[in-house]
Amino acid sequence: MDDSDQLIRISALQHYAYCPRQFALIHVEQVWAENYFTAQGNLLHERVDGGEPEQRGNVRYERGVSVKSERLRLTGKLDLLEIEGKPPTHYFPVEYKRGKPKIEDWDKIQLCAQALCLEEMRNITIDEGAMWYWKVRKREPVLIDDALRSVTLAAIEGAHNVLASGITPPPIEKKKRCKACSLVDLCEPGTFRHDRSNTYIKELFAASTISDSNES
Ligand code: SF4
Repeated sequence: MDDSDQLIRISALQHYAYCPRQFALIHVEQVWAENYFTAQGNLLHERVDGGEPEQRGNVRYERGVSVKSERLRLTGKLDLLEIEGKPPTHYFPVEYKRGKPKIEDWDKIQLCAQALCLEEMRNITIDEGAMWYWKVRKREPVLIDDALRSVTLAAIEGAHNVLASGITPPPIEKKKRCKACSLVDLCEPGTFRHDRSNTYIKELFAASTISDSNES
């Protein structure tokens, strides 16, 4: 399968960053299970994306901004873009999330991918954005630096590779993450891990039998 023309939704990158198997189950196999967390997250985005643009002082606030990158084959929607100055001198993307700040980069990857699209579309540079977390009512600044850009580009490449291969990767070994995963019942990571270890042992056994018979 060739995915050279296929656009990935930016929101799908967090699925890949969370677990490549989850990404494949949703975007290759097209299964989906909405749990309490995903349903609440969708409601939040509907509310946030619905507002009209407004000007407050020197800053223009645009909501639900569509973004796209031909180069990275990405498309998506930005919750809020703050544009400072007339003419604009500073662009500041803001992404809203239902939960609270995470240690891992999943949310930041999404924000960075939005920034990369904006940079390509408007020929600008974005060095900072923010995540707004509903649960803790907190705005967290995010630097769009080289380290985040490189993690984001790796996630984009990995996601395109999974789509191109059409193959669903095996479960991740992070069992805590599986507990919070909306696809845990469909994925059955425990069963799959067990099957894989059985297969692995059988393959090892077969390999050693072949090498024994070659030596005799
Ligand atoms: S249950 Fe675990 S392995 Fe399966 S898709 Fe979710 S996070 Fe990935």
